[in-house]
Amino acid sequence: MQHFLLSAAARTLSLKQVFKMGEDAAYRTFCELRWPENDGEAICPRCGCVETYNITSRRKFKCVACHHQFSVTSGTIFASRKLSFTDLLAAIVIFVNGAKGVSALQMSRDLDVQYKTAFVLAHKLREAMALEDAGQTLAGEVEVDGAYFGGHVRPANEKENRRDRRLAINQSGKRQVVVVGRERGGESMVTVAKSEAKGGEVIAASIHHMSTVHADEASHWDNLHAKFDTKRINHSLSYSDGIACTNQAESFFSRLRRMEVGTHHRIAGKYLHAYAAEASWREDNRRVDNGSQAMTVAAAAMDAEVSRRWAGYWQRVS
Ligand SMILES: [Zn+2]
Repeated sequence: MQHFLLSAAARTLSLKQVFKMGEDAAYRTFCELRWPENDGEAICPRCGCVETYNITSRRKFKCVACHHQFSVTSGTIFASRKLSFTDLLAAIVIFVNGAKGVSALQMSRDLDVQYKTAFVLAHKLREAMALEDAGQTLAGEVEVDGAYFGGHVRPANEKENRRDRRLAINQSGKRQVVVVGRERGGESMVTVAKSEAKGGEVIAASIHHMSTVHADEASHWDNLHAKFDTKRINHSLSYSDGIACTNQAESFFSRLRRMEVGTHHRIAGKYLHAYAAEASWREDNRRVDNGSQAMTVAAAAMDAEVSRRWAGYWQRVS
């Protein structure tokens, strides 16, 4: 079977199309994503009035009722954007196209923008992906697993590395665990915690009580039995005994490792959740064509409030 990413259906929006559409059409796209309920016509974010004056020259609006002035990106993750709408849309396409993630350095070269602009933008897109996945509940057959990241020199073999990371001698105190809950053939969600037990509690809170949960034999998953029909697998015997298996959770972790090793080289602890959420979003949307992926991320960003973490980030640190 042909890999989905190689099929024509996977390619519905190309960089060529984005640049060909031009600034007006790109701008119009963001208006439609921001105000879908009003066919892309502006709605005052302060009072909800649908009648606005269009200050066309500056791409701004003025509310007829309360005189508030705003733009299509005011109050969203893309507020105070420095890029043109074409570049912003191109950035989103580049970002969703990177199945193993996209480094800020690559994005800065592709778009010919400063590194710090690309760095902040990539994190805003990760935030949009995380928001798109937020608040979901897992149900059905759900696999739960954890893996350690950070604070440790990575051995070559992944299975070795899982075991070694649990030994106190190999821990620097900076290590954190990513715990994933993954529906078979469905959605996944992630959390970052100091221990698998703690992360497991967070994930368990979002799993429907009628679900069947699959986990490995490690004792920190024992609590799952109290809440769910729980199946365990002994990894030292086999990776799947036909009843219990955590292969889908494992494939999430191999994606996150590939992102860490191949693209970002090192993931700082404070960003671990952002990268884990990105990997989760990519897993959940891997069979969606890239045009729809780009629109989903752009819509989530336009629907979200100003990023607390990333708004004015460089002004604060420099
Ligand atoms: Zn208003």
